[in-house]
Amino acid sequence: MDTNLISDSCLCVSFRQMQVVQHSEHTLKTALISKNPVLVSQYEKLTVGEQRLMNEAFQPTSELFRPITVYSQSDWITSHPEAPQDFEKFFSDPYRKAPTPEKSNIYIQPIGSLGNSRVISEEYVKWLKGYCEAFFYGLTVKFLEPVSISATKCSFRVNDHTQNLQIHAGHILTFLKKKKPEDAFCVVGITMIDLYPRDSWNFVFGQASLTEGVGIFSFARYGKDFHSSCYKGTVTKAKRTSSSEYSIFDNYYIPEITSVLLLRSCKTLTHEIGHIFGLRHCQWLACLMQGSNHLEEADRRPLNLCPICLRKLQCALGFDVVERYKVSGRRGRREVENP
Ligand SMILES: [Zn+2]
Ligand SMILES: [Zn+2]
Repeated sequence: MDTNLISDSCLCVSFRQMQVVQHSEHTLKTALISKNPVLVSQYEKLTVGEQRLMNEAFQPTSELFRPITVYSQSDWITSHPEAPQDFEKFFSDPYRKAPTPEKSNIYIQPIGSLGNSRVISEEYVKWLKGYCEAFFYGLTVKFLEPVSISATKCSFRVNDHTQNLQIHAGHILTFLKKKKPEDAFCVVGITMIDLYPRDSWNFVFGQASLTEGVGIFSFARYGKDFHSSCYKGTVTKAKRTSSSEYSIFDNYYIPEITSVLLLRSCKTLTHEIGHIFGLRHCQWLACLMQGSNHLEEADRRPLNLCPICLRKLQCALGFDVVERYKVSGRRGRREVENP
C-alpha cells in the first residue's frame, strides 16, 4: 500500500469530555521557527509584517490563532495518533512537493455532474477556482472538461448502511494519474458521488496520493439532506437488481449547491491539495489542516492555516504572506459586491 496515501474518513461518534490541546509557547515557537540555524535565518528574512502575523502562533493571548479543542473520542487527533509535523520536519521531508515553472498548474477534474444544470455547475466551478487561486497564491487553477463516471472505469457499489451509490476512490486515482497533464503540479478530481476506499470501509471524504500528485474528493455528504430521512440518493432494491451497469448513474441524485456546500467544498479542496504539497495533519493550533473524522469536526476547522502550516505553504510557493491576504481579501470583496 502507498504509505503516502492520505484518507479523510469517518468513524462512529462516541462522546467524551472536551479537551483543549494546549502547547507551550516554547513548543509552538520551535514548531514554527525551528532550532536549525539555516531555518532560523530564513525566518528572520521574512518581512516585519509576515513575522508579526506568524509570531501570533505562540502568543498565549492571540486573537487570531486558538488551540485545538477535541470534542469527542472520535475526533481525528485521539483516534488517529500521528507524529506531529513541525516546519523543520516538513522542510526536510523528501516526499514533499513544490511546483516548478514547468509544472505550476493545479488541475481540477469534475467527475460526473456537479450541479443540476450547466449554469449552476459553471457558477460553482468559478467560485472554487477563484477560491483555490487566492489560497494557493501564485498558482493557476484550471478546470478540465467534466467526465462521466463510466469514463473512469471505476468500480462502484451501493452502501449497505446508507443505500447510496459509491465509487472506488483508488480506481479514480488511477484514472487521474493517466490523465495528468504535462504541466500539472497536481490533478484533483471532484465529484458529487460518495467514495469508498476499500470494501471494508464505510466511506471516505477524499483520498490523495502525495507521490503521484493526484487526489479525489467527494462532496456527496456535504448537502443538507444527506443524513435526513428525505435524502433522495438512496437506491431502491428494484433498481439495484436491475442495473449493474454505469447507467445506474444516469440522472442519479446530486445535492443542491448551497452556500454551506460551497464553504465545505472550498475547505476540503484546500485541505486536500495541502496534503499534496506534503502538509500533514496539523496538531499545533486550530487550522484548516487538522484531520477530520466526521462532518461536525470538518465544520469546526477554520478556513485558514495556522502560522506553522502557512510557513510550510509559503516555503513551497514563495508568496509574500501579507500580499496573499490582501489579494484574497480584495478578490473576496469584489465577488461579494459583483457576484
Ligand atoms: Zn486530511
Ligand atoms: Zn496548522
